[in-house]
Amino acid sequence: MKACLLHRPGPVESKPLAFVEVPDPEPQDDQVLLRVSACGVCRTDLHVVEGELPPRLSPVIPGHQVVGEVIQLGVKARRLAMGARVGVPWLHRTCGACEYCRSGRENLCDQATFTGYVVHGGYAEYMVAPEAFVYPIPPSFPDLQAAPLLCAGIIGFRSLRLSGIQPGGALGFYGFGNAAHVAIQVARHWDVRVYACTRDAAHQRLALELGAAWAGGTDAEPPVKLDSAIIFAPAGELVPVALRALKKGGALVLAGIHMSPTPPLEYSLLYHERVIRSVANNTRQDGEDFLRLAAEIPIRTEIEVYPLPEANRALIALKHDAVRGGAAVLDCRVVRR
Ligand SMILES: [Zn+2]
Ligand SMILES: [Zn+2]
Repeated sequence: MKACLLHRPGPVESKPLAFVEVPDPEPQDDQVLLRVSACGVCRTDLHVVEGELPPRLSPVIPGHQVVGEVIQLGVKARRLAMGARVGVPWLHRTCGACEYCRSGRENLCDQATFTGYVVHGGYAEYMVAPEAFVYPIPPSFPDLQAAPLLCAGIIGFRSLRLSGIQPGGALGFYGFGNAAHVAIQVARHWDVRVYACTRDAAHQRLALELGAAWAGGTDAEPPVKLDSAIIFAPAGELVPVALRALKKGGALVLAGIHMSPTPPLEYSLLYHERVIRSVANNTRQDGEDFLRLAAEIPIRTEIEVYPLPEANRALIALKHDAVRGGAAVLDCRVVRR
């Protein structure tokens, strides 16, 4: 099959992904083989490709927002039928036995593997995944539009949950790309007012189109104090900025897997029982709950489609805030340049 392979991390501008022929994967035991139709491009992919996340598998095929069709079942796979349309998220597999798995917190599993990082992902024509960790895609979403739901959507949803935001509350978003453009639709559905702080004017416009009460730059102060805030951008310097905008007792959620160092914190910013909390991965429950809600709302994803061989170009656009719409998605059925 054809796939985008990362041999050595490097700046995306140097085009570290090679579009090459690799052996077709084969499903083991409880795995299914998927013919990939679409794979969303996530900021975490950028951290993998540029090496901010240390390599766990090399070479590796990135991509963890995968939509595909089941075309072969492993010998022990019984849950899914041939032809089922499923999504593969970042959380690839957990051990099921550690203290985190046994307490409903499999997102923190000691032995977790991650798609497109610890195992091969979806920047490819085919991939394998454990059938217990893939989700049926609601029929109302076409393949390309469904892809961003699988990480941007699920992680955004978990971030909203951890923010503790209540109906009628005021919620700040710092950064407005992939995850935020989906999360705002859930927040609006819950009758939450969203204040979007983002450096890019096009993203400010998108936030307003999607129902934000206000949009401004990352340094601009929202017109009201916030009950909670979520930082989607990988920029540690935003932590004191967001804390300053919070009410007493407010929660600040850090949604990214990687962040630049945070500057020293004035304790007064944290005092009055403000909390800072990170988001790590997702549970299967998050994924199932979110996809059900996404179909019910229904969520509309704004995508820009790139052919699979152009993955480097999609990552460059993501890095430079140049993705039109909310999310870049690879069309994995297009394998000619
Ligand atoms: Zn575990
Ligand atoms: Zn992701």
